[in-house]
Amino acid sequence: MNHGLQIQENYSLRNYNTFNIDVSAARFVELISDDDIKKFVSQVKVLQPIYILGGGSNVLFLNDFRGLVVSIATKRIQKIDETESSIDLECAAGETWNDVVSFCVKNNYYGIENLVLIPGTVGAAPIQNIGAYGVEIKDILINVEGFDLDSKKLLTFTNKECEFNYRSSIFKTKLNGKFLITKVRVRLSKEKKYQLNYRALNEKFGNQNIESISIQDVANYIKQIRLEKLPDHTKLGNAGSFFKNPEIDIEHLEELKKQFKGIVYFAAATGNYKIAAGWLIEECGFKGKRIGNVSCYEKQALVIVNHGGATGNEIKEYAEKIQSAVKDKFRISLIPEVNII
Ligand SMILES: Cc1cc2nc3c(=O)[nH]c(=O)nc-3n(C[C@H](O)[C@H](O)[C@H](O)COP(=O)(O)OP(=O)(O)OC[C@H]3O[C@@H](n4cnc5c(N)ncnc54)[C@H](O)[C@@H]3O)c2cc1C
Repeated sequence: MNHGLQIQENYSLRNYNTFNIDVSAARFVELISDDDIKKFVSQVKVLQPIYILGGGSNVLFLNDFRGLVVSIATKRIQKIDETESSIDLECAAGETWNDVVSFCVKNNYYGIENLVLIPGTVGAAPIQNIGAYGVEIKDILINVEGFDLDSKKLLTFTNKECEFNYRSSIFKTKLNGKFLITKVRVRLSKEKKYQLNYRALNEKFGNQNIESISIQDVANYIKQIRLEKLPDHTKLGNAGSFFKNPEIDIEHLEELKKQFKGIVYFAAATGNYKIAAGWLIEECGFKGKRIGNVSCYEKQALVIVNHGGATGNEIKEYAEKIQSAVKDKFRISLIPEVNII
């Protein structure tokens, strides 16, 4: 049964995941309009099993997917409200996240510039509450609209109802796989203000008068750092940070500080401390260490890369080696940020 959807069979996902894993989907459909999404939701029960995919920049496929991969490709950036000091945008889930950032930077809409160059789509951005350089999407998000795939109802989640946390939200926890995000609404400031607390930004802009700093300056500087530090996934498959930064309590931190003078940590909102996962991995000797087709990136140990031809399982096994080394040395469990399928 196929009510007007262009479902394709045995579809290669090689170009639909930034790890460049050579897997395929038994069935594949691209939803390019609101109408496509409605058609899909109306028959979601008979189309199971399904997997919703945006840009594939936060997923690791271990095997071919035996069901239907649903690629969200709706595009739109629309102004929906404006005051003297702010502007509200409604963005379709399939819109490229960085295109929204570029649109805002071009128009001097402040608040989103630190999130420049994060790969992927708008619809996936709230799932793990994307963040970089001291800003998370929760800081600008008004609400999220989408379909509950059980009830097929169109629902709106306010910022608070999204239960945002560090690299997490209700969509990654209670509603994991059960909610199709169709639109994200964000509020940007028309008044100049920046989040420059992040060390590299503070060093660059901290002494400058805010009036002399343009939104393009901030976005360009972050772009420059990202391009230097992170691999280009079209050349070296990866999904950005593979693990979350783990959190430990003060007692554990004090013990580690005695043993490891250079430990990199920072205070978390919870009162505990976050340890830089990249530092832990580097201390265990994985930075640049290649096993088969897989390694940690030579410039940033937190990024696991596919040198070409790696399977999802090879990458998973490499990640497990890191987890067990970090556990043995620091008594810390690393939790993947990437969605393993
Ligand atoms: C080089 C590189 C750098 C990165 N840097 C950062 C960074 O600085 N900060 C950061 O937070 N992340 C970063 N990431 C991770 C990634 O870019 C983000 O997690 C991004 O939001 C994923 O978007 P996507 O469209 O590719 O999602 P996908 O990988 O396609 O999907 C991710 C998850 O979201 C679900 N999903 C996708 N779309 C929808 C939808 N419309 N409705 C419901 N569920 C959906 C999927 O089922 C999956 O569970 C980086 C990745 C790479 C490759």
